[in-house]
Amino acid sequence: MDSCIFCEIGKHHIPGKVIYEDEMCMAFLDLSQTTDGHTLVIPKKHFHDILEVDEKTLSHMMNVVQKVAHQLQTKLDAQGFNIMTNMNEIAGQSVHHFHIHIIPRFSQQDGFNAIYTDRSKEIDLEAIYHRIMD
Ligand code: 5GP
Ligand code: ZN
Repeated sequence: MDSCIFCEIGKHHIPGKVIYEDEMCMAFLDLSQTTDGHTLVIPKKHFHDILEVDEKTLSHMMNVVQKVAHQLQTKLDAQGFNIMTNMNEIAGQSVHHFHIHIIPRFSQQDGFNAIYTDRSKEIDLEAIYHRIMD
C-alpha cells in the first residue's frame, strides 16, 4: 500500500492540527493526546516504517523532532519527553506509514507509561551478545 490516512493528512486532503511543515515532512497533533501536545512527525512520502525510510528523510525528521520538542517544552512547559516509533503490529504500529511520536511528559502519572521489565536475573547477556555479534 502506498497511500494511507497519513499520506492524506500530508497532502492536506484530510485536516490535521499541523504544527510544523516543510517539503519533506509534517508534524501534527495525535488525535489520542496521550499527554497534552502528543505529536506525530511523518514523512510526506509513504514509507512503512523506520527500516524502510531513506537516511536523508530520517535524519531530517529527527531534526524536526528536536525542533518541535523545543517548541512543546517552551509553549506547554513539558518537563521531559518520550520519543518513539512503533514498527509492525507486534510493537503496536496501527498506522502503517512511518511516524515518530513525541510525547511530552508532565508527571509520572500524566497518562503515558513506558514500562521496561528488568529481566537481568533471568537472561544470559553473554549469549544474547554473541547471537547479535557472531
Ligand atoms: P501507532 O499506534 O501506529 O504507533 O500510532 C498511530 C497514532 O496515530 C495513534 O496514536 C493514533 O491516535 C493516531 N491517529 C490515527 N489516526 C489518526 C488521524 O486520523 N489523525 C491524527 N491526528 N492522529 C491519528
Ligand atoms: Zn501513507
